[in-house]
Amino acid sequence: MARYTDAVCRLCRREGEKLFLKGERCYTDKCSVSRRAYAPGQHGQGRKKLSEYGVQHRAKQKARRYYGVLESQFAKYFEMATKKQGMTGENLLRILESRLDNVVYRAGFAMSRPEARQLVRHAHFTVNGKKVNIPSYLVKAGDVIALTQKSLATDKMKDVIEANSGRPVCSWLSREPEKGQVVVTRLPNREDIDFEVEEHLIVELYSK
Ligand code: SF4
Repeated sequence: MARYTDAVCRLCRREGEKLFLKGERCYTDKCSVSRRAYAPGQHGQGRKKLSEYGVQHRAKQKARRYYGVLESQFAKYFEMATKKQGMTGENLLRILESRLDNVVYRAGFAMSRPEARQLVRHAHFTVNGKKVNIPSYLVKAGDVIALTQKSLATDKMKDVIEANSGRPVCSWLSREPEKGQVVVTRLPNREDIDFEVEEHLIVELYSK
């Protein structure tokens, strides 16, 4: 499957903000957004004002890159969101937050979403006791996501859990780091999601 393989910091610089794609480095002064706060490329420092379409497109790209989702899958999520009751933009964010790789990251079992995706792919987690290696798996309220005993016992995982112990826990997740497990108590509402995006712009883009 086609996936972005260029330097990920360029994605943050393109969006003009931190998307936290590199783990620890994102929290240091080595972060490229802190050091070069302008878009990459030859014309990065001389950008024109964006059109209405450009603003909507950037909002969609930012969300896609933040959650690490390909264009086609993002369009599918939007389609799913339109079929659910309630606000389409909020539904879309809820679906993105429900991805297993996002939950693993939010629970503090990985330093970044890309790392969480790789851990899931390598079958380090179970959902309700069954191994799941699909990063796009959508969790439901009541699901129990757990590290396998073997993975929980590794020094690397202990270090990651320790490093993330101070990170705020999402109100919709109940975390038990010592057991290497997290329970989805409910799916998040908009106010539970700290991602700063104007989701109505994405809805407007897809509604054209
Ligand atoms: Fe983005 Fe992290 Fe790179 Fe900073 S260090 S530009 S937040 S991926």
